[in-house]
Amino acid sequence: MDAESTLTEIAKNIRHCQKCELAHSRKNAVPGTGPANAEIMLIGEGPGFHENEQGLPFVGASGKFLTQLLNDGGLPRNTVFITNVVKCRPPGNRDPQEQELKACGAFLDKQIEAINPLIIITLGRFSMARYFENARISKIHGQAVWREGRLIVPMYHPAAALHQPKLRSVIMHDFAQLKNLISAEKERLATSGENKKDNPSQLSFF
Ligand code: URA
Repeated sequence: MDAESTLTEIAKNIRHCQKCELAHSRKNAVPGTGPANAEIMLIGEGPGFHENEQGLPFVGASGKFLTQLLNDGGLPRNTVFITNVVKCRPPGNRDPQEQELKACGAFLDKQIEAINPLIIITLGRFSMARYFENARISKIHGQAVWREGRLIVPMYHPAAALHQPKLRSVIMHDFAQLKNLISAEKERLATSGENKKDNPSQLSFF
C-alpha cells in the first residue's frame, strides 16, 4: 500500500476508534492533515473545541497563529503534515491522560512510519516527551537533535503565546529559523554522504 492509502486507512481507524474514554465525548476525531510525502511533520497536543467541531487540526486561535508561524518560516501549511498526540478532544481541553496517550500512540507511530518525514516538530510538552524525557521546553526550544533517524525540533506550543504574550517573539524567532536549519542540514547530509540514522549529535543553529 502506498503512503497515501496507508494514511487514509489509519484515518478511518482513528474515526472508528473506541480504545479510550475520549471516544465517548468526541464529536469528530481529528486524524491530521497534509501531504503523505511531507518532509515535515508537526505534532501538537490534542484537538480543542474548533478542531472537534470540524475534524481538522489547528483550526482555532492557536491554529491561526501556527499558520502564520509556518508562513513566516517559509513552510506553507499545505506542505507539512499536522497531527496531534491524541486524536480526540479531551473534555474541557484538559491534559491528555497516560492511558489516552498510550492508546493513541500506536496511530501516531503508524502515521510517522507511513510519512517517514525528515523532520518532526513537536508542539508543546506532550509531543516533546515522546523524544525528550524530563526535558524543559524553556531550555531546549528550537534546538534540533537527531532521534530515531530524523531531525526533531522541539517548539513551544503556539497557544503558549496566547497565554503568555512575552513568549510570542521567542516562538516567532524559533519558527523563523526553521528554513535555514532545514536547508543547512540537508546540505550537510548531501555533502557528507553521512547516514542520518547514525548521527545522534545535537545541532547548534540557534
Ligand atoms: N492544540 C493542539 O495541540 N492541537 C490542535 O489541533 C489544536 C489546538
